[in-house]
Amino acid sequence: MRILISNDDGVAAPGLAALHDALSDYAECTVIAPDQDKSGASSSLTLDRPLHPNTLPNGFISLNGTPTDCVHLGLNGLLPQVADLVVSGINLGANLGDDVLYSGTVAAALEGRFLARPAFAFSLLSRLPDNLPTAAYFARKLVEAHESLDLPPRTVLNVNIPNLPLEHIRGIQLTRLGHRARAAAPVKVVNPRGKEGYWISVAGDAEDGGPGTDFHAVMQGYVSVTPLQLDRTFQEGLNRLQPWLEALL
Ligand code: MN
Repeated sequence: MRILISNDDGVAAPGLAALHDALSDYAECTVIAPDQDKSGASSSLTLDRPLHPNTLPNGFISLNGTPTDCVHLGLNGLLPQVADLVVSGINLGANLGDDVLYSGTVAAALEGRFLARPAFAFSLLSRLPDNLPTAAYFARKLVEAHESLDLPPRTVLNVNIPNLPLEHIRGIQLTRLGHRARAAAPVKVVNPRGKEGYWISVAGDAEDGGPGTDFHAVMQGYVSVTPLQLDRTFQEGLNRLQPWLEALL
């Protein structure tokens, strides 16, 4: 069993090391991760320059690219043997609801969609590493359990872990994605030379965060597991559009 591990917080992130440590005696693990923080990179590929893999003293491969670049290269020729499974994280920060659209953590897992097995994305609800052991524990537990899981390809399991010590976790809940309200307005800044710019601000609060959602589960102290699919086709929209299109002809 071979696992390709990546993340979007960068190759030096503590969550990446924690994930590798959690899985390294379960499978043959290879780590390929961005050389810098690429949070928010979504499923972007670098097409304007070559990518240069650089093996670090700890064996992790650093790449001057995005999380998607890392997994793409890892599954398409960089490694002597293709991985069986892609696991991403552990991200420091939630990937709930609308976050999955922007998340490089989720994107890295999505890039593993051509494999026969479901991919995993793990996120801890904290910017601090204190409770990474909790997230690492569930990462190991869930990845190990994938062997008895029957899911179609192109399925990603998006896992969010509350920022709690292990003994305070109440269990694991299967959830759907909630929705966030609009993000706060970008913050205007002026550099020392008078040039104006903007920082993208923080994500909005949960707007649809009731029972059954990922937001609700983690707020109640449960690990949230949401199955994601790549197909974003709005099936009901197909029916509604048909008469509209016919009327145009
Ligand atoms: Mn991140």
